[in-house]
Amino acid sequence: APGLAGRMSRVKESPSSRVADRVREFQAAGRKVLPLTIGEPDFDTPGPVKEAAIAAIRAGETKYTSANGTPALQAAIRDRLLRKTGQAYGPGEISVGGGAKQLIFLAFLATLDEGDEVIVPAPHWVSYPDMVTVNGGSPVLAAAGAETGYKLTARALRESITDRTKWLVLNTPNNPTGAVYGEAELEALAGVLRAHPRISVLCDEIYDEINFGTRPVPSLVTVAPDLRERIFLANGVSKAYAMTGWRIGYGAGSPELCAAISTLQSQSSSCPSSVSQAAAAAALNGGREFIDETVAVYRERRDLLVSGLDAVAGLRPLTPEGGFYVWTDASALSGARTPEGRVLETDADLAEYFLETAGVVVITGDSYGCPGHFRASFALDSATLAEAVTGIGRAVSLLR
Ligand code: PLP
Repeated sequence: APGLAGRMSRVKESPSSRVADRVREFQAAGRKVLPLTIGEPDFDTPGPVKEAAIAAIRAGETKYTSANGTPALQAAIRDRLLRKTGQAYGPGEISVGGGAKQLIFLAFLATLDEGDEVIVPAPHWVSYPDMVTVNGGSPVLAAAGAETGYKLTARALRESITDRTKWLVLNTPNNPTGAVYGEAELEALAGVLRAHPRISVLCDEIYDEINFGTRPVPSLVTVAPDLRERIFLANGVSKAYAMTGWRIGYGAGSPELCAAISTLQSQSSSCPSSVSQAAAAAALNGGREFIDETVAVYRERRDLLVSGLDAVAGLRPLTPEGGFYVWTDASALSGARTPEGRVLETDADLAEYFLETAGVVVITGDSYGCPGHFRASFALDSATLAEAVTGIGRAVSLLR
């Protein structure tokens, strides 16, 4: 076998993929599993989006496209960004890739030199630190915990900045907590950033349409348009339109960064799938009906899951403002003893106990840089959620 590069020691498989393997193992053994690990909508892609893809195939849109996407998708993205942020992005300020994930990876690959630091507020999406380290950078975790509503404060930001800081990652709505930054909170961060012109901001807004608030999720670029050249907005169609398997994401930022990402695309994947691009354009150009309908369903499930977990002694779920995860403080159960006499010490012990006792799978808080918690998804039907809540309640009641 070829020897692996040194950088491979700086990256591990995504915990979500690892848990998915564990779920498959359990299912293969004939055991029922309630996978509250799901990181994607359980809805089907909207019919008109599928039709647009079929039409694209029939019309022969089956060849390489520009590394930065088709003109039609580019236009749909720019319209969407204008509606959302009030900013008119030009053609050279958009990147298109195989998911927001790929674009975030490429943004780091394009900009990080050995030792450059990236501030990642914790709890954080599992992938940011690995994406930073594999590209030579150093993730600097900044506390954004319960005390501050799971948001990075201006003070915590200021304290994390060094001469090597290159990026701040801002994920709103947040995975795993569902926290959404308000305008005043973004303005406070912008104030710090204005004093540090070398720092750019990677704004991951992939969950912005799954929003339980009465107003749209605010964007840093809207609050602080003067920082626009330093902001890379990452978004996509995966979550809003139930299109995770189509693999289309987009980014908006400075022409220099978008050109660099395009160069990397042209030397790695050439371009994202032409058929998926046609589907993504149809999704972005379509009405809001699908989003409104699915958010109403998510809201009911959210309320069911939060109230169910809240009724379990020892669990403190946070009501998410966006996304489809409930972040739950389970630190009160640390040190508890199972009926078999095993002591629950780590997050993994608790997760394994839920799996064995109730068939419920959750993702451990330490995966997100915040032990003593777990993340439970509500991208599942209400009957499954109700069964999971009952199972967790029973499992916890057996602890002593
Ligand atoms: N960013 C966050 C915070 C996510 O949770 C995810 C998916 O789980 C992504 C980005 C990736 O989305 P995409 O499917 O567009 O690559």
